[in-house]
This record gives sequence, C-alpha cells and structure tokens, in this order.
Amino acid sequence: MSGAFDVVIVGTGHGGAQTAIALRKHGFEGSIGMIGEEQFPPYERPPLSKDYLAGSKSFERLLIRPAQFWAERSIEIISGQRVETVDPTRREVTTSGGLRVAYGSLVWAAGGSARRLGCEGHDLAGVHSIRNKADVDAMVDELVAVERICVIGGGFIGLEAAAVLTKLGKQITVIEAQERVLSRVAGPALSRFFEIEHRSHGVDLRLGVGVDRILGDGDRVTGVRLADGNDIPCDMVIVGIGIVPEMGPLLNAGARCGNGVEVDAYCRTSLPDVYAIGDCALHGNVHADWTQVRLESVQNANDMAMTVAKTLCGGSEPYCAVPWFWSEQYDLKLQTIGLSSGHDVEIVRGDPASRSFSIAYLRAGRVIAFDCVNAVRDYVQGKGLILRVVDLVRLGDPSISLKDVASAAERGTPSSKATKPTVGARAV
Ligand SMILES: Cc1cc2nc3c(=O)[nH]c(=O)nc-3n(C[C@H](O)[C@H](O)[C@H](O)COP(=O)(O)OP(=O)(O)OC[C@H]3O[C@@H](n4cnc5c(N)ncnc54)[C@H](O)[C@@H]3O)c2cc1C
Repeated sequence: MSGAFDVVIVGTGHGGAQTAIALRKHGFEGSIGMIGEEQFPPYERPPLSKDYLAGSKSFERLLIRPAQFWAERSIEIISGQRVETVDPTRREVTTSGGLRVAYGSLVWAAGGSARRLGCEGHDLAGVHSIRNKADVDAMVDELVAVERICVIGGGFIGLEAAAVLTKLGKQITVIEAQERVLSRVAGPALSRFFEIEHRSHGVDLRLGVGVDRILGDGDRVTGVRLADGNDIPCDMVIVGIGIVPEMGPLLNAGARCGNGVEVDAYCRTSLPDVYAIGDCALHGNVHADWTQVRLESVQNANDMAMTVAKTLCGGSEPYCAVPWFWSEQYDLKLQTIGLSSGHDVEIVRGDPASRSFSIAYLRAGRVIAFDCVNAVRDYVQGKGLILRVVDLVRLGDPSISLKDVASAAERGTPSSKATKPTVGARAV
C-alpha cells in the first residue's frame, strides 16, 4: 500500500499534532498525513504522571482535539505504524506495516523513548517507565496488588509519580544517583525544598546512590539492590531516568545527529525539506547561551511546530521562544520560565517554608530563569526579566513585584535585552 502527502508528519504527539493544527490555521491547503506508532489520536502526555495516573482524569480529557477535529480539517492520521526508513532522494518513508508514503516536506516529531536501566533485572515483570498511555495503563493494572514501590530517578517524572502514588497510599522509595533531586534542571534551593516536601509526605529518599541491580523472584521484581550494597524490597519499580531521542531512521538517512536531530533556527535538518521538532530536536538556544540543547517540554514542541508551520506557509520566523515548563507535586504547582542551567547566582524570593516562593537564576549578571512554586504572579511577571540586567537587591525582595523590578531596570540601567538570534545562521 502506498500514499502521498504534501506534508508528512512523523509522530502524533504534541509537536506532530500542533504542526498539523498550525498548518491549517495558517491557511495551508495541501494534503497532510500524520503517521504515529501509537494507536490513539493525539493526546497530552503531562497528565500521564499526574491526574491520569491518579485516576482523576479520563483518557478522553487528555485528547489534544476531539476525535472528529482531524477529519474535519482533512488531516489524515495513520496510527499504529512506526516509520522505519526515510529515503530523502525518493522523498518517501516506509513503515512497520509495509506502507510507503511519499512526502513533499517531512516533519519529524517522534519524541523519545524512555531510557532503560542497563543492569541485571531491568526487564523483570513489575519494572515500568512512564512515557505513553500504554505504560501507565499497564502500571495501573498492577497497582492493586502493590504496596511498596521504588522509583528510580529523582527528576520531574519520578517525583510526580512518587507524589501521586504516595497519595494513593503506596510506600515509596525514591533512589537518585546525584546528591540532590532535580539536579539536571534546577538549583540546590529548589532541590532542597522538594526533598523536604517528599520526606514530609513519607517518601523514603535515597540520594547520592546508584542502582546495582533489580532483584527478582522468578520473573517478577522483588526489590532493588543499591550500589552501596543495601537492598530495598518492593513490588514494583518505576524507572524515570530520562529519554533517548527517536532519530534512528533520520540518522540512517544521513541527517546530522548528535544527542538528537540537529536543526537550525527554522527547525530544518541537514536533509532537504526535512524538519525536526520537539523532544528529539537538538538546537542552538539563546536561553542556553547558544549551546545546543534538546528541550523536553510541551512549550518547546508546540513553539517549534509553529515555526515549521509558518515556514511551510511561506513565512520565516526563527525559533527563539522563552522556554517554560510546569510540574505538579502534592498541592504544589511549580512553574518555570527560562533555562537555569549554567547559572552562577541563585536568589530566593520569599520563604520556602511558606510553600509559596520563587527563585531567580542569573548568569554573568543577567536573569536567565525563574522557578516559581505556588507563585503565579512571579511566573507571569518574571518573563519580562529574562535576559535582562536588574538590581539584585530589588530582585531578592518579595515585597517588590517583578513588574516593578523590570520597570526600575528600564529606567535605571542600560537596556539589557540580549540580541535576537542571527536569523538564518545555522544554530548547529
Ligand atoms: C509522564 C510525562 C510527564 C510530562 N510532564 C510535562 C509537564 O508537566 N510539562 C511539560 O512541559 N512537559 C511535560 N512532559 C514532556 C512533554 O510531554 C514532551 O516534551 C512532549 O510530549 C514532546 O512532544 P513531542 O511531539 O516532541 O514528542 P511526543 O509527545 O513524545 O510524541 C512523539 C510521538 O511519536 C511517536 N513515534 C516515535 N517514533 C516514531 C516512529 N518512528 N514512527 C512513528 N511514530 C513514532 C511516539 O509514539 C509518540 O506518540 C512530560 C512527559 C511525560 C512522558
């Protein structure tokens, strides 16, 4: 069987869905085909470790658009098919089910797969990860017979799962190889705050210790042996140690790839008319001081999709959106703006003990990010300060709004907005 579309989108997740939506919104009249490995229409991934895992949100409420939306806009979804090869000369992809699909332009929005443990026992029954609906459904099916759960990895997904499962009455141990949780994405003050929160909810946090192996009886998990020789008995293991970007077919087709598919400021890969967006796209980002990063967030997937859609509709706006992200744990809503990696100063606004505060991060004198815990106002107003030079005393005073900090900076200091990216320059 074969088919052909003006635009073929690989991946029916956030980036893929948003590309199709944005193309139609910008008046694209050509044919659009979306090919997705999963059996479901496009759905939101963040609730998988939050309300969907908790059982408080149904799958229907996760759908990015109602089922009929796609057909009404002549967007054809080909589900249950994994794209296995890309032929940039013939401009064609082939799928696991034997389809050949020709493209005018190809948008690679294939995200990533959950990174697996490499140790003994990693494949025992009862060892799970949380990347898609099927992962969570399989886990939930087992939960009734499970009391003790080891979560491996103290990043956002591991901590969110720990919070939900604690509330469901499970006994949770979180094992983190680094000395603090969230070490990849936040500064020490935020890590300490979440460590205190989780411990106060009864989570047993083991920091600075790796995993030696997963223990089992027959084919079922019974515990985790830590690198320090201690065993933690458990009935289930959840592995939350990041993702591996999906890029095999593009790499085989000759696209330049590193820790992701390399793209320029318009999300163009090194192959003609092939774009890559979302979790798998490795790009130079002004908010990371122009280093190459992959951002794993809904914002990044959606904004990159907009960039590609505009380009395909004849526009040319480079991708330079301010990154934002959120996490929910217990009754806490964390909202982040900017990227804090590489910060050299961290300023806490307010008292973490009040459970409503924010943290400003600076690099070389400029504000680069905020982490805001139950502090929506700082989150909203903080955006205006990103990449600016501000008065640090005012910044650290929670009685002064960030809006006022920004106005004072306008009046008092030379305007400090960083220059926009050099349009057209390849960011890779
Ligand atoms: C549990 C969880 C919680 C999260 N929480 C948050 C949050 O709170 N806030 C936030 O901003 N972000 C969050 N994220 C991250 C966010 O969901 C991702 O950044 C976003 O989904 C990325 O979109 P994407 O389109 O790049 O990839 P995805 O949404 O992962 O979509 C990729 C799709 O491509 C499919 N695919 C892969 N390979 C192929 C192939 N070869 N052929 C066909 N199809 C293929 C996959 O099956 C998948 O359906 C969370 C992610 C997870 C897993």
